[in-house]
Amino acid sequence: MADLAKILAEIVDELSARENRGVPATYIPELAAIDPKKFGIAVETAEGESYVAGDATEAFSIQSVSKVFTLAIALGRLGDQLWGRVGREPSGQAFNSILQLEHEQGRPRNPFINAGAIAVTDAILAGHEPKELLGELLHFVRTAAGDDDIHINKSVAKSETNTGHRNFALAHFMRSYNRLYNPPELTLGAYFHQCAIEMSCAQLARAGRFLMGAPGMPRMVAPSRVLRINAIMMTCGHYDASGDFAFRVGLPGKSGVGGGILCIVPGKASIAVWSPGLNDQGNSKLGTEAIEMLATRMGWSVFSG
Ligand code: GLU
Repeated sequence: MADLAKILAEIVDELSARENRGVPATYIPELAAIDPKKFGIAVETAEGESYVAGDATEAFSIQSVSKVFTLAIALGRLGDQLWGRVGREPSGQAFNSILQLEHEQGRPRNPFINAGAIAVTDAILAGHEPKELLGELLHFVRTAAGDDDIHINKSVAKSETNTGHRNFALAHFMRSYNRLYNPPELTLGAYFHQCAIEMSCAQLARAGRFLMGAPGMPRMVAPSRVLRINAIMMTCGHYDASGDFAFRVGLPGKSGVGGGILCIVPGKASIAVWSPGLNDQGNSKLGTEAIEMLATRMGWSVFSG
C-alpha cells in the first residue's frame, strides 16, 4: 500500500507543526517529564505489511492500553463469568471517577475505566502472585507482538504507586462492597505494573494484530471474543470521549494517559499512535487527530462496509 507510507509521512509532517499539543499526564510524575513533541505512528496491515513514521520505534508507557490485554486474558480465563464482576456499558464519566461506583454499589460500568480495569486485574490475580500474573501478561503481549523485547518500567510503576491515591480510593471502595477479592495493595501493585509496560508504536501495532480478526494473524483469543473486545473498545475505549471518538474515527480504539492509542480496523489493520499531550478527557490530543486523519484518508470505518 504505497499510499499508506505517504499518508503517514504527511500526518507526521502536518502534526509536527502544531503548537497546541495538549498536556502530558502530570499525576504520574514520571510521565510528566516526557517531551510533548514526541510523535510516532505505526500500522500493521492484514496483508502482513508494516508501516512506521516519526518516533515509532521509541518505547512509551502504554498505561491504559494494557487494559485491552488484561481483558483478553480475563475473557480467556473466566469467559462470560467476568461480566459478573464488571459491566459493559459506556460510563460517560472521567476515567478515574468514583461517583458512579457509589450509585452502582461498587460494580464498575466497564473494564476500561480505572475501577473496571482494577476489578479485571483482581479477577485474574485470584490464586496467583502478582509476579505470576505480570509474567503471564508480558508473555501474552510479547507473543501477540512477536517480540520479546517488551518490558515493565519499574520507575513508572513506583511513581504511580506513590501518587495513585484515586486508584487506592477506587480499590478500597470496591473492597468495601466485597467486589475486590484480593487485598487492594496487592491488586493495585499488579495494576500499576501492568500500566507501566513500555512499547513502541511499532510493537503496539503488532501486538494489536490479533484484534483484526483477519486470516494469518496471531490467534490469542477465540474469534467471538475478538468481536466483543472490539465492541468494548468502540463503546468504552476513550472514557467520556468514547462517543466523540466513534463519531470522528468510526473505529474501535483504546487510549492511555501515556499518550498512546491502539486502534483496530477490523479485517484490515492495527494502528498505534503516540503523542504524550492529552486533551481534557485524558486521551492523546494529537493521537486522536492523527487517527482521524488516517481513517479519513484511507476510507477506514466500521460503518463504511
Ligand atoms: N495508570 C493510569 C491510572 O490508573 C491509567 C489511566 C489511563 O491510562 O487512562 O490512572
